[in-house]
Amino acid sequence: CGIVGYTGMHSAAPVLLDGLSKLEYRGYDSAGIAVRDGEKQAEVIKAKGRLKKLIEKTNGGDSVPGTCGIGHTRWATHGEPSENNAHPHTSDDGNVVAVHNGIIENYQELKDKLIRNGYTFYSETDTEVAVKLVDYYYKKYEGTPVDALTHAMVRIRGSYALAIMFKEYPEEIYVARKDSPMILGVENGESFIASDVPAILKYTRNVYYIGNLEMARVRKGEITFFNLDGDEVEKQPKVIEWDA
Ligand code: GLU
Repeated sequence: CGIVGYTGMHSAAPVLLDGLSKLEYRGYDSAGIAVRDGEKQAEVIKAKGRLKKLIEKTNGGDSVPGTCGIGHTRWATHGEPSENNAHPHTSDDGNVVAVHNGIIENYQELKDKLIRNGYTFYSETDTEVAVKLVDYYYKKYEGTPVDALTHAMVRIRGSYALAIMFKEYPEEIYVARKDSPMILGVENGESFIASDVPAILKYTRNVYYIGNLEMARVRKGEITFFNLDGDEVEKQPKVIEWDA
């Protein structure tokens, strides 16, 4: 339902929690964040119910160090509202971590394919299937995250705004989008991701819109867009004039 992402020089968790609070009006049943401290694997913290519970659990974000992270408020479509089904979701080895808005329509078919290839599943969500499909192509073709996303996007039917971190790409977040909103912003060496403008308006007014079936590589203060061929796409930021 709500997505926030941050990579920069500040602590990520407080920015993620603040952004998610700006998206609370949309409604949700659980929330979670994943934060990376340098090269270390992402730390994932989730809570069912109010965002306040996640804020308490992380001591306002202070107990989760790291400058790169993703956050989510979930409105369950596949799988009951629970901590286990809450996002972020991770690959079997924990090296790919993602949050997702939308619905993967052919998730059962993709899940069967992944199970045949040795994958196991811990949740009932369509999102876990999407994460593991990306992981599958990432390992199979040994390419970049953009290559892996391209393969996954060709196979996935449905709607998605995905924000993903890969263990081998510290301080970076990858975004893929189809029929579900997602915006990105850059300001003074920091980069922001959100499913809606109010989540990041406090930090930047320079907003990039990512098109359908496009991807983005988000580094500190630098965002690069790609089309489904993996070619770079030039974009100009739009200045947001209104206040939330
Ligand atoms: N379909 C996903 C789920 O049920 C994402 C729901 C959402 O957009 O919050 O977990």
